[in-house]
Amino acid sequence: MKRRIVVVSLLGLGAAARGTGPAAVRSLPEAAAVPGGVALVELGAANGPRPSATYGGRPVLVRAHGERWIAVVGVGLAADAQQAQALTVRDADGRERPVTFTLQPKAYAEQRLAVAPRHVELSKEDLARYERERTHLAQVLRHFDATREPATLRLLQPTSGPRSSSFGLRRVFNGQPRSPHGGMDIAAPTGTPVIAAAGGEVLDTGDYFFNGHTVIVDHGQGFLTLYCHLSEIDTQRGRRVEAGAPIGKVGATGRVTGPHLHFSVYLNAQSVDPALFLPPG
Ligand SMILES: [Zn+2]
Repeated sequence: MKRRIVVVSLLGLGAAARGTGPAAVRSLPEAAAVPGGVALVELGAANGPRPSATYGGRPVLVRAHGERWIAVVGVGLAADAQQAQALTVRDADGRERPVTFTLQPKAYAEQRLAVAPRHVELSKEDLARYERERTHLAQVLRHFDATREPATLRLLQPTSGPRSSSFGLRRVFNGQPRSPHGGMDIAAPTGTPVIAAAGGEVLDTGDYFFNGHTVIVDHGQGFLTLYCHLSEIDTQRGRRVEAGAPIGKVGATGRVTGPHLHFSVYLNAQSVDPALFLPPG
């Protein structure tokens, strides 16, 4: 076995990243190097300027963690766990080096849902609207503000209510397979306040075909949170928000089976399991 992959120095194995260490340590999400999870990859000693890193061509969040630089990598649900994953790291002196890491496979269950036929068999008009919105949202979710550093990657639960563990479920709407569930659903009655899960700036608001009334908050370095199906949006694009600031109310707009908050977390334009960022539920 000569082709052993080196530099697979993943964190999260010790107590530190599980939240029992010092405060600085708890600013990282729980590590889960699986499709739909977060890989914490060591990039070297943090005794010089911050290196930058890309994954799949997209910039990745890098932060100091004690004495080390750590890349906090969002791994897409579609990632192939059989393949070694590679970051391209660019050090402050301009030199580039690959840093590889491995994934563990994760099997996600299937979820069957019944929704209004209009939200599965799209009319020509709805399809055109959806395509426009998909392009817009994809662009928004690729946003990477290198100058804004998240104070923490630990999040507040954005509304009170029971959390589902439905992230990553392969969904079948009215018998037809659709894309997997890219977030966590929190059940709450219409009108329940929704707060920003961390401080940041409101990057986008809108009324979208599937997501309904939606708010997206930028926390910096490609770390974004998304809040969907709101009955009401209580903020606006460009507004700075503190962690815990009210931004809207739970509703049932868009493609839903009933009132709830759909909450997604993005890193490097990949939606990852919000549970990794939240206090134990
Ligand atoms: Zn959802």
